[in-house]
Amino acid sequence: MNSATEIWPDGLGSSSSELGHNVMDHHYNLGARGKVEGFEDMYTYGRRPNGFYIPRFVNINGDKREYLRGFGYQGGANREGWSRDVAELNIGANLKESLSEPGSWTIGAGGFGEILPYHDNRILLDKRYYDAEGNVVTDPSKGKQKTDKWGLPILATDAELRENEIKMRKDIVEEMKQMFEIAGVKDVKTWDNGHNIGHGIHEMGTARMGRDSKTSVLNGHNQVWDALNVFVTDGACMTSSACQNPSLTYMALTARAAAYAVNELNKRNI
Ligand SMILES: Cc1cc2nc3c(=O)[nH]c(=O)nc-3n(C[C@H](O)[C@H](O)[C@H](O)COP(=O)(O)OP(=O)(O)OC[C@H]3O[C@@H](n4cnc5c(N)ncnc54)[C@H](O)[C@@H]3O)c2cc1C
Repeated sequence: MNSATEIWPDGLGSSSSELGHNVMDHHYNLGARGKVEGFEDMYTYGRRPNGFYIPRFVNINGDKREYLRGFGYQGGANREGWSRDVAELNIGANLKESLSEPGSWTIGAGGFGEILPYHDNRILLDKRYYDAEGNVVTDPSKGKQKTDKWGLPILATDAELRENEIKMRKDIVEEMKQMFEIAGVKDVKTWDNGHNIGHGIHEMGTARMGRDSKTSVLNGHNQVWDALNVFVTDGACMTSSACQNPSLTYMALTARAAAYAVNELNKRNI
């Protein structure tokens, strides 16, 4: 986007008007946790107990929800440890004795869900002018643009969760709560601390791949339609976010694009 020219005023590769649009992320900041009774005689040695992953089970194999796509969970179980609250024993030998035990077990899981691509969810370079109080002004002579420490325009995000995402978030916490309760976990509590695009630190989609240069920024080889010697191989190429952690897919796409680029170079096509 910083490589804007007279040919591409909105940035290199922007002829489709999709550059910067369709930003996605994964649902985050929500899940359930509770207490697991028993196992007090169980200790962990060496490596910590493993975490768990529950793959997507909604909207597949005949399951149908009020929203599209789905989510998975990432979780783990822990002893409460030294920091647990033992208010009734908070002095003397009783406290020391109590803290020489590792505490009871808790279990928790956070949801990672798919956020859909919406053209109107976008990132852009903030080229607005601000006065000394931080208000946007239309007359450039009355203000200054915001720049980073290298003097480049700062990134702005204009994106929000929509109906599909809000419905899915409710289901993510409810399903985990039910699973824990059925499994015998006690005192199950859910949490949803809210989410803005970027909180899941899995941003993707802003240079989408596609078959048509009029509706996408990259072709199927991660090559910029408007400049075939430029390859974009990070999460920007994704057209949907799925619900899995994304980086292995980026690495696979990168390896594939690099092999293609070498072939094309050898053929003197780029
Ligand atoms: C705390 C955290 C936890 C995460 N956990 C997971 C996880 O468990 N699983 C998972 O799949 N993903 C995870 N992610 C997401 C994952 O880290 C990213 O998807 C991945 O690193 C993206 O890789 P990338 O190569 O596209 O970009 P980056 O890894 O961001 O690499 C971009 C590089 O470009 C450099 N750069 C930027 N601008 C310039 C410039 N102008 N000139 C030269 N160099 C430049 C940067 O310094 C950086 O080295 C996590 C992210 C965070 C922040």
